[in-house]
Amino acid sequence: MKPYGYVRARSVEEATAAHAAHPGARYLAGGTNLVDLMKHGVETPGTLVDVSRLPLDTVEEPPGGGLRVGATVRNSDLAAHPLVRERYPVLSQALLAGASGQLRNIATTGGNLLQRTRCPYFQDTGTPCNKRAPGTGCAAREGVHRDHAVLGHSPHCVATHPSDMAVALAALDATVELRGPDGERTVPVTEFHRLPGDHPERDTVVRPGELITAVVLPPGTAGLPSAYRKARDRASYAFALASVAAVLDVAGDGTVRHVALAFGGLAHRPWRARLAETALLGAAPTEDALAHAVEAELGLAQPLRDNAFKVPLARNLAHRVLSELAADRP
Ligand SMILES: Cc1cc2nc3c(=O)[nH]c(=O)nc-3n(C[C@H](O)[C@H](O)[C@H](O)COP(=O)(O)OP(=O)(O)OC[C@H]3O[C@@H](n4cnc5c(N)ncnc54)[C@H](O)[C@@H]3O)c2cc1C
Ligand code: SF4
Repeated sequence: MKPYGYVRARSVEEATAAHAAHPGARYLAGGTNLVDLMKHGVETPGTLVDVSRLPLDTVEEPPGGGLRVGATVRNSDLAAHPLVRERYPVLSQALLAGASGQLRNIATTGGNLLQRTRCPYFQDTGTPCNKRAPGTGCAAREGVHRDHAVLGHSPHCVATHPSDMAVALAALDATVELRGPDGERTVPVTEFHRLPGDHPERDTVVRPGELITAVVLPPGTAGLPSAYRKARDRASYAFALASVAAVLDVAGDGTVRHVALAFGGLAHRPWRARLAETALLGAAPTEDALAHAVEAELGLAQPLRDNAFKVPLARNLAHRVLSELAADRP
């Protein structure tokens, strides 16, 4: 048992000040990931700054449209929110595809975005892992890596990002609001998580001490046809082998007016399929066009020894979701 301090913050200012005052502090939200990692000895915070009761638990409609989701809104509340279900169904579906009802009742929007990889070596302090202990090596590259990345990995890390919610947010062009020692800033979700490169220990672009205060869903993707589909080993309570979040808007003349496609379970971050999107924008979404677009994107894949199956799995998922959205228009 390693002792640690505990501070319950009542305001954003109190939270960031407490974090700054306690070197080695971590923010604690629902605790469903952080506390597990503390039990495994992977995270060893000197102090937990509890942000779970901050007044950031509302979903608001900003004057310009869209939705502003506070960082402590619970996953189950966000999934069930009438405006989310109506305007951003892909987000509601992604949330409901994640974890279990009990976990979603406690897990928060901010914590979900910052959950760490489920690579088993990362969670096992007895094995080499560059993400947990930089410079020790990557046990997964030649070890058990069936669940690992096929896109954007590096010699130093082949882990995937586990969040379903983040994949939907990437497809919706959502942004993350942060408050830290240097003030406030906003980061697009597509740039929030990093590829591993030479520094797999850094999952995201979040700077030391920064607190997520909100996630903003833009008006531009509100109400567009969208869907989330996830393939996994069990029907529930399992992380994605591959998943797809898609937004597809077809104009009256039958050509694609807006398209966004993001993959989960394939990379160290939600993977926006820009090649596929470029191929589809302005084209008629025929079965051939959809197939070629998805193929162009997944041509970038570099599977590991035991996870080549993810490429056709992701291809079929993406094709089916896009095809259904294209067929579903009025
Ligand atoms: C058995 C199991 C199955 C699961 N299955 C899935 C699944 O299928 N799909 C899926 O997407 N997820 C799944 N999860 C993960 C779950 O969604 C996450 O654990 C949860 O979303 C994390 O949210 P939290 O509020 O509990 O975060 P915490 O555990 O409290 O925190 C996680 C991280 O975020 C940081 N943090 C929290 N809030 C903030 C903030 N506002 N600002 C800055 N930093 C912050 C913490 O310091 C910590 O580093 C599963 C978890 C379990 C245990
Ligand atoms: S894939 Fe990444 S997280 Fe897993 S062992 Fe390798 S370095 Fe660690």
